[in-house]
Amino acid sequence: MLPVASLRQGMGFLVELLRPRWRRFAAVIVLHALAAASALAVPYIIGRVIDALGAGTTHRFIALAALAALGAYLAEGLLGKMVAVRTRLIGEEISAQVREDFIDRVTHLPLSRIESAGTGDLLARTTHDISLVQETVRDGVPRLLIGTVTTVTTYVLAVLVSPVLALSLFVTLPIVVMGARYYFRRSRHIYLWQTQSYSVLNTVAAETADFVGTVDSLDLGAARRDMMNRLVATHVFEGQHSGIRLRMRYYCFLLGGTLLPTVLVFAWGAYLTALGQVSVGAIVTVALYANQVRFPIATIIMWLDSFQVAAVAFARIVGVRLVAPDREPTGATPSGSAISARGVSYAYREGRPVLHDIDLDLVPGQTLAIVGPSGAGKSTLGRMLAGIHPPTEGTVTVGGVRLIDLTEDELHSQVVLVTQEHHVFVGSLAYNLRLARPGATDEELARALATVGATWVDDLPEGLDTRVGSGAHKVSPGQAQHIALARLVLLDPHTVVLDEATSMLDPGASRQLEASLARALAGRTVVAIAHRLSTAANADRVAVMEEGRITELGTHDDLVAKGGTYASLWATWNRQS
Ligand code: ADP
Repeated sequence: MLPVASLRQGMGFLVELLRPRWRRFAAVIVLHALAAASALAVPYIIGRVIDALGAGTTHRFIALAALAALGAYLAEGLLGKMVAVRTRLIGEEISAQVREDFIDRVTHLPLSRIESAGTGDLLARTTHDISLVQETVRDGVPRLLIGTVTTVTTYVLAVLVSPVLALSLFVTLPIVVMGARYYFRRSRHIYLWQTQSYSVLNTVAAETADFVGTVDSLDLGAARRDMMNRLVATHVFEGQHSGIRLRMRYYCFLLGGTLLPTVLVFAWGAYLTALGQVSVGAIVTVALYANQVRFPIATIIMWLDSFQVAAVAFARIVGVRLVAPDREPTGATPSGSAISARGVSYAYREGRPVLHDIDLDLVPGQTLAIVGPSGAGKSTLGRMLAGIHPPTEGTVTVGGVRLIDLTEDELHSQVVLVTQEHHVFVGSLAYNLRLARPGATDEELARALATVGATWVDDLPEGLDTRVGSGAHKVSPGQAQHIALARLVLLDPHTVVLDEATSMLDPGASRQLEASLARALAGRTVVAIAHRLSTAANADRVAVMEEGRITELGTHDDLVAKGGTYASLWATWNRQS
């Protein structure tokens, strides 16, 4: 799993988000307090009227009091509207920033971390967690803010009206606080369990969908469904059930703690009036406050509850920030385009290296074919040379600069890995091509397509603007390869590592695609991980890999003449074909 942020790290990020906006945030709090105070003026006026009636008063006083109450309501409405817009704006800004920061981090996560964590966890964070945080920040933060400010303002005003009477508002607070402590101490654990259960479920669902072909051919449908059902029963249901049970218990505390004060004000007030210490008007005012404060308190508790869920989701989102980058751009610029590996070792799992101390120099403009048995480490070496993974030991440099010292953009302008997977994203054809070079003009896109011989584009109904991908215009596998090659032309790296992509060069591949690939690669340094020895025979040099080491390196003719591993592979290959 990817890391989950601690409470402190989460708070740290929150402070980072709020700091540049603290003035506006403070203004919003003041406005909220004013709006709340306006609303609370009415019970006060009612109290004053009751006292005045007892003592004997004029019509004029009553009329003025009614006008004042009307004014207070109007002020509350106006202030409330002003502050609602402002609070919402801050909420939207923050949630946008969280989402942008998250997407930015996710798209730059080290590939090795994503591979080892599995895509399900990341998927759950990108979908479930981020929506939850966004909802909470949008609605929850404003409501929590209003609830807190209203509650505090009500307590302050109650104390101002009558400190002794206000006591009855506070005596039940311990019940509410104790209940909240009981609840929150247990709920974080439950919510973490709940969100993680979605990750597990997502992993299974994503895996089933991604490898639907395998599932079908091995007739695993029923088994996968059983697995999902079991997970729903053991993880999801259990998580939700214990959450609901805990919440029900807690609501009892909450209800008791907030209903009791209104009753207490009257009882305690009756006693105090008998002593001549408070007026009936004051009792009514404070009783109305006690009744009114129930709602903001319930809002706080309700949203604190959602906050617990969101805080866990937030911790998982902030967790993505904690993944250490596997490259630190130093600003160094390569002098030249020669790629060299020195003493390169790589281990997917600690202590289990699959590459051992490899030295290799690519010759600019030349093609190097890497051959060898399956599992020898060819793909892994290809990934090292393309800068996908930093080596565990040793260095890979381009023009004297380590690949991990370059920014990702800089790296991709130097060397690119092409695999057999050419995904076409849902969107226009132009969008799919601009992924490689965002600023490219339509002419540049058309030229790249022409370079790889993608003449079919001319027949598309809307040309470059035609929507492609699943659910839109269907592109054939050959066309998808054209798109991938056009992206390569747009990226225009001096070096290309072809992994599996060389199967395009297989005898079975169409001549046309072969020509497209040749044109896309013209003038570039090429590392071809060769699955067919015919590819190797056409390369300038051949490297033979066995058990994570390069055991032979030279031209095809030299290696055949040498009579080593390559020579026998070549002999076998020739016999077979
Ligand atoms: P080749 O391309 O020559 O078939 P690879 O580079 O794919 O070889 O694999 C070299 C070794 O590394 C193999 O033992 C393989 O099982 C292991 N390996 C490859 N990818 C991973 C991975 N993502 N995690 C762990 N081990 C891996």
